[in-house]
Amino acid sequence: MLRPLAAWPQNKSRPSPILYGSVSCRFVFDNFYYSCYSNFMKNFSVSFQQSPYLLKYRFFPFREYLKEQFPYKVHKISLHAGFTCPNRDGRVGVGGCTYCANESFSPNVKGPYLSIKEQIKKGKAFHKQRYGAEKFIAYFQSFTNTYADVETLRLCYEEALADKDVIGISIGTRPDCITDDSIDLINGYTENYHVWIEYGLQSIHDATLRRMNRGHDYRTFLNAINRTKKTCIRICVHVILGLPGETREDMIETAKAVAGLNIQGIKLHHLYVAKNTALAKEYFEGKIQTLDMNTYIQLAADFLEHIPSDVTVQRLVGDTHGDFLISPVWKASKAEITSGISRELEHRGSYQGCLYKSEIPVRTNHLTSAPVLHIQGQDSKKPKLHTINI
Ligand code: SF4
Repeated sequence: MLRPLAAWPQNKSRPSPILYGSVSCRFVFDNFYYSCYSNFMKNFSVSFQQSPYLLKYRFFPFREYLKEQFPYKVHKISLHAGFTCPNRDGRVGVGGCTYCANESFSPNVKGPYLSIKEQIKKGKAFHKQRYGAEKFIAYFQSFTNTYADVETLRLCYEEALADKDVIGISIGTRPDCITDDSIDLINGYTENYHVWIEYGLQSIHDATLRRMNRGHDYRTFLNAINRTKKTCIRICVHVILGLPGETREDMIETAKAVAGLNIQGIKLHHLYVAKNTALAKEYFEGKIQTLDMNTYIQLAADFLEHIPSDVTVQRLVGDTHGDFLISPVWKASKAEITSGISRELEHRGSYQGCLYKSEIPVRTNHLTSAPVLHIQGQDSKKPKLHTINI
């Protein structure tokens, strides 16, 4: 483990040599430690020189990524385009993922109808006035934003891109709901826009995915990633820490697998229990527990240590809106938890990617279960404006 080595020369708390027997053993042991430590610090210094954000935050925040990419202030505007989800309407499954209450993380799902154009207009006004944002990425967040025929998708995406201040698009979707045609459509925007697809993975472990009723397996995710990687689309992967039945080792396995995918972005969430979900029922029956904040901070830091430092971190904690949250209730804001993770990494003397090993083999089984091939048009739910800051 590199972690204790980084702190060793400063705090002089290296293990007593008595524990290690003879003088020659001590010599070998000390040399080994010095060699590991100097390699670690060499990599650390190089990483810091290449990535000043690592020195400041210990990870690569999305806002720093946006600053590197654009000469103006860019914010994301969260949109609900009126899609539903194949894991809710019966196409893949019913009831959705056990933790899913879209209203809890994207309140724009409820309320009066606003067109995408109107949502963009209001989102722009909000972010300009509150944060001084100048340009925007249209973030199709709610439900499954590729769950329609290509012409419907084109109309939706281009309604957002038509705004002169929208410089990019980010499309949240499921890995089993992306056809080659929709990938081609989205890839077509990369010539003139900054384009992301955000795939929900949550875990690489099929047992966990089954338990959460995700409705797809890891192979399906890899298939979507592999097809998307043949394009110029940037890929962001969503992961949840603290899923029922998962150990720290399971989560680290997910981190290592994601690290080897050569993606550009990651979003980490903690598992939370929201009202009106299957998970809430399990929670009240005492079948599941949620993480306390300090454990989450430790796990998130563990996870980031395995993720390459050039993968931008778009999110480090889940977000609930309104009174949907049942558990965990942490007495800290999102910003405080994020800076807690930074402090934890600093305290360890580590940083994002310090344990990343590019030679780690990635499970890449290209055989896949079938994606959702028959997709429906938009459902009739009318969205209302909701924006989030990044
Ligand atoms: S894929 Fe997303 S929208 Fe669909 S049920 Fe799961 S969390 Fe909800």
